[in-house]
Amino acid sequence: MYDYLIAFGGNVGSTHGNPPETMQAALQTVVERGLRIVDQSRIFRSASFPDPTGPEYANGVFWLRDEREPEDVLSILHGIEADFGRERVSRWGERIVDLDILSCDDLVRPDLKTWRDWRDLPFERQTRETPDRLILPHPRLQDRAFVLVPLMDIAPDWRHPVTGHTVRQMHADLPEKLRNDVKPL
Ligand code: ADP
Ligand code: MG
Repeated sequence: MYDYLIAFGGNVGSTHGNPPETMQAALQTVVERGLRIVDQSRIFRSASFPDPTGPEYANGVFWLRDEREPEDVLSILHGIEADFGRERVSRWGERIVDLDILSCDDLVRPDLKTWRDWRDLPFERQTRETPDRLILPHPRLQDRAFVLVPLMDIAPDWRHPVTGHTVRQMHADLPEKLRNDVKPL
Protein backbone atom coordinates (compact mmCIF):
# COMPACT_ATOMS: atom_id res chain seq x y z
CA MET A 1 0.00 0.00 0.00
CA TYR A 2 1.18 3.47 -0.84
CA ASP A 3 0.14 6.70 0.84
CA TYR A 4 -0.35 9.47 -1.67
CA LEU A 5 -0.82 13.18 -1.10
CA ILE A 6 -2.63 14.79 -4.03
CA ALA A 7 -3.24 18.46 -4.80
CA PHE A 8 -6.23 19.64 -6.80
CA GLY A 9 -7.35 23.01 -8.01
CA GLY A 10 -9.15 24.92 -10.70
CA ASN A 11 -10.17 28.43 -11.65
CA VAL A 12 -12.89 27.90 -14.26
CA GLY A 13 -16.44 26.78 -13.67
CA SER A 14 -17.85 23.70 -15.34
CA THR A 15 -21.20 21.97 -15.75
CA HIS A 16 -20.79 21.17 -12.03
CA GLY A 17 -20.83 24.81 -11.00
CA ASN A 18 -18.27 27.36 -9.88
CA PRO A 19 -14.66 26.30 -9.10
CA PRO A 20 -15.33 25.16 -5.49
CA GLU A 21 -18.36 23.15 -6.66
CA THR A 22 -16.31 21.72 -9.50
CA MET A 23 -13.61 20.66 -6.98
CA GLN A 24 -16.24 18.84 -4.91
CA ALA A 25 -17.43 17.04 -8.03
CA ALA A 26 -13.84 16.11 -8.91
CA LEU A 27 -13.37 14.59 -5.45
CA GLN A 28 -16.51 12.57 -5.89
CA THR A 29 -15.20 11.33 -9.24
CA VAL A 30 -11.90 10.29 -7.63
CA VAL A 31 -13.88 8.04 -5.29
CA GLU A 32 -16.06 6.72 -8.14
CA ARG A 33 -12.92 5.71 -10.05
CA GLY A 34 -11.95 3.41 -7.20
CA LEU A 35 -9.36 5.52 -5.38
CA ARG A 36 -9.71 5.49 -1.60
CA ILE A 37 -9.59 8.88 0.09
CA VAL A 38 -8.37 8.64 3.68
CA ASP A 39 -8.62 12.34 4.48
CA GLN A 40 -9.12 15.66 2.74
CA SER A 41 -8.47 19.30 3.49
CA ARG A 42 -10.94 22.14 3.46
CA ILE A 43 -11.23 23.93 0.14
CA PHE A 44 -9.39 27.23 -0.06
CA ARG A 45 -9.45 30.13 -2.46
CA SER A 46 -6.31 31.75 -3.72
CA ALA A 47 -5.33 34.41 -6.20
CA SER A 48 -4.60 33.30 -9.73
CA PHE A 49 -0.99 32.33 -10.33
CA PRO A 50 1.31 33.62 -11.76
CA ASP A 51 -0.94 36.48 -12.96
CA PRO A 52 -2.94 37.66 -9.90
CA THR A 53 -5.50 39.46 -12.06
CA GLY A 54 -6.78 36.16 -13.48
CA PRO A 55 -9.77 34.27 -12.04
CA GLU A 56 -9.38 33.05 -8.47
CA TYR A 57 -8.53 29.39 -7.83
CA ALA A 58 -10.18 26.88 -5.56
CA ASN A 59 -7.55 24.52 -4.12
CA GLY A 60 -7.31 21.61 -1.76
CA VAL A 61 -5.39 18.42 -1.02
CA PHE A 62 -6.34 14.88 -0.17
CA TRP A 63 -4.68 11.73 1.06
CA LEU A 64 -5.13 8.47 -0.88
CA ARG A 65 -4.17 4.96 0.05
CA ASP A 66 -3.73 2.64 -2.92
CA GLU A 67 -1.73 -0.36 -4.03
CA ARG A 68 -1.29 0.98 -7.56
CA GLU A 69 2.02 2.39 -8.79
CA PRO A 70 2.41 6.19 -9.08
CA GLU A 71 2.25 6.16 -12.90
CA ASP A 72 -1.04 4.28 -12.76
CA VAL A 73 -2.51 6.65 -10.20
CA LEU A 74 -1.39 9.62 -12.31
CA SER A 75 -3.09 8.21 -15.38
CA ILE A 76 -6.35 7.79 -13.45
CA LEU A 77 -6.05 11.42 -12.34
CA HIS A 78 -5.33 12.54 -15.91
CA GLY A 79 -8.45 10.66 -17.04
CA ILE A 80 -10.49 12.66 -14.54
CA GLU A 81 -8.92 15.93 -15.72
CA ALA A 82 -9.80 15.01 -19.30
CA ASP A 83 -13.37 14.11 -18.38
CA PHE A 84 -13.83 17.46 -16.71
CA GLY A 85 -13.11 18.98 -20.07
CA ARG A 86 -9.81 20.46 -19.24
CA GLU A 87 -8.43 22.24 -22.22
CA ARG A 88 -4.89 23.37 -22.10
CA VAL A 89 -4.71 26.97 -23.23
CA SER A 90 -1.25 27.69 -21.84
CA ARG A 91 0.85 26.40 -18.99
CA TRP A 92 -0.68 27.73 -15.78
CA GLY A 93 -3.52 29.18 -17.80
CA GLU A 94 -7.13 28.67 -16.97
CA ARG A 95 -8.10 25.15 -16.09
CA ILE A 96 -11.15 23.32 -14.87
CA VAL A 97 -9.36 20.72 -12.74
CA ASP A 98 -5.65 20.09 -12.23
CA LEU A 99 -4.68 17.04 -10.17
CA ASP A 100 -1.04 16.64 -9.14
CA ILE A 101 0.68 13.96 -7.12
CA LEU A 102 2.57 15.71 -4.31
CA SER A 103 4.13 12.60 -2.83
CA CYS A 104 3.99 8.84 -2.71
CA ASP A 105 5.38 7.58 0.58
CA ASP A 106 9.00 8.74 0.67
CA LEU A 107 9.76 7.89 -2.96
CA VAL A 108 12.10 10.15 -4.93
CA ARG A 109 11.50 9.71 -8.67
CA PRO A 110 12.97 9.26 -11.18
CA ASP A 111 16.22 9.87 -9.25
CA LEU A 112 17.71 12.49 -6.93
CA LYS A 113 19.65 14.35 -9.63
CA THR A 114 16.61 14.75 -11.90
CA TRP A 115 14.48 15.79 -8.93
CA ARG A 116 17.03 18.49 -7.99
CA ASP A 117 17.24 19.74 -11.56
CA TRP A 118 13.46 20.29 -11.63
CA ARG A 119 13.40 21.74 -8.14
CA ASP A 120 16.08 24.26 -9.10
CA LEU A 121 14.60 25.17 -12.49
CA PRO A 122 14.73 28.98 -12.84
CA PHE A 123 11.31 30.61 -12.58
CA GLU A 124 11.18 31.86 -16.17
CA ARG A 125 11.80 28.31 -17.41
CA GLN A 126 9.09 26.88 -15.13
CA THR A 127 6.42 28.55 -17.24
CA ARG A 128 7.74 26.96 -20.44
CA GLU A 129 9.10 23.55 -19.48
CA THR A 130 7.03 20.61 -18.35
CA PRO A 131 8.46 17.28 -17.27
CA ASP A 132 7.40 14.42 -19.55
CA ARG A 133 7.58 11.92 -16.72
CA LEU A 134 6.49 11.78 -13.14
CA ILE A 135 8.68 13.67 -10.67
CA LEU A 136 8.25 12.85 -6.98
CA PRO A 137 7.89 14.60 -4.64
CA HIS A 138 6.26 17.33 -6.73
CA PRO A 139 9.19 19.69 -7.44
CA ARG A 140 7.26 22.90 -6.59
CA LEU A 141 5.61 21.65 -3.41
CA GLN A 142 7.82 23.71 -1.07
CA ASP A 143 7.11 26.97 -2.96
CA ARG A 144 3.34 26.89 -3.13
CA ALA A 145 1.14 28.36 -0.43
CA PHE A 146 -1.94 26.92 -2.15
CA VAL A 147 -0.47 23.45 -1.53
CA LEU A 148 1.14 23.93 1.90
CA VAL A 149 -1.79 25.74 3.53
CA PRO A 150 -4.25 22.91 2.70
CA LEU A 151 -1.60 20.31 3.64
CA MET A 152 -1.53 21.82 7.14
CA ASP A 153 -5.12 20.50 7.50
CA ILE A 154 -4.26 16.84 6.90
CA ALA A 155 -0.51 16.22 6.96
CA PRO A 156 1.42 18.83 9.01
CA ASP A 157 3.96 16.20 10.08
CA TRP A 158 4.63 14.73 6.63
CA ARG A 159 8.37 14.93 6.03
CA HIS A 160 9.93 15.70 2.66
CA PRO A 161 12.17 12.73 1.78
CA VAL A 162 14.93 14.89 0.25
CA THR A 163 15.04 18.01 2.40
CA GLY A 164 13.84 16.43 5.65
CA HIS A 165 11.53 19.40 6.23
CA THR A 166 8.02 18.83 7.52
CA VAL A 167 4.96 20.47 6.02
CA ARG A 168 4.80 22.58 9.19
CA GLN A 169 8.35 23.87 8.58
CA MET A 170 7.80 24.52 4.87
CA HIS A 171 4.56 26.35 5.68
CA ALA A 172 6.31 28.48 8.33
CA ASP A 173 9.09 29.28 5.84
CA LEU A 174 6.67 30.81 3.32
CA PRO A 175 6.42 34.59 3.23
CA GLU A 176 3.48 35.58 5.45
CA LYS A 177 1.85 37.46 2.60
CA LEU A 178 1.67 34.29 0.47
CA ARG A 179 0.25 32.24 3.34
CA ASN A 180 -2.44 34.82 4.08
CA ASP A 181 -3.49 34.92 0.45
CA VAL A 182 -4.84 31.36 0.75
CA LYS A 183 -8.18 31.61 2.53
CA PRO A 184 -10.69 28.95 3.57
CA LEU A 185 -13.92 29.25 1.64
P1 ADP B 1 1.20 21.63 -13.74
O1 ADP B 1 0.44 20.70 -12.87
O2 ADP B 1 2.65 21.69 -13.39
O3 ADP B 1 0.61 22.98 -13.84
P2 ADP B 1 0.42 19.78 -15.74
O4 ADP B 1 -0.64 19.31 -14.84
O5 ADP B 1 0.04 20.04 -17.12
O6 ADP B 1 1.15 21.06 -15.21
O7 ADP B 1 1.56 18.69 -15.69
C1 ADP B 1 2.36 18.49 -16.79
C2 ADP B 1 3.06 17.15 -16.69
O8 ADP B 1 3.85 17.10 -15.54
C3 ADP B 1 2.14 15.97 -16.56
O9 ADP B 1 1.74 15.50 -17.80
C4 ADP B 1 3.01 14.94 -15.83
O10 ADP B 1 3.52 13.96 -16.68
C5 ADP B 1 4.16 15.75 -15.31
N1 ADP B 1 4.39 15.55 -13.89
C6 ADP B 1 5.61 15.39 -13.34
N2 ADP B 1 5.55 15.21 -12.04
C7 ADP B 1 4.24 15.26 -11.70
C8 ADP B 1 3.55 15.13 -10.47
N3 ADP B 1 4.21 14.90 -9.32
N4 ADP B 1 2.20 15.25 -10.49
C9 ADP B 1 1.56 15.48 -11.65
N5 ADP B 1 2.15 15.61 -12.86
C10 ADP B 1 3.48 15.51 -12.88
MG1 MG C 1 -0.83 18.94 -13.04
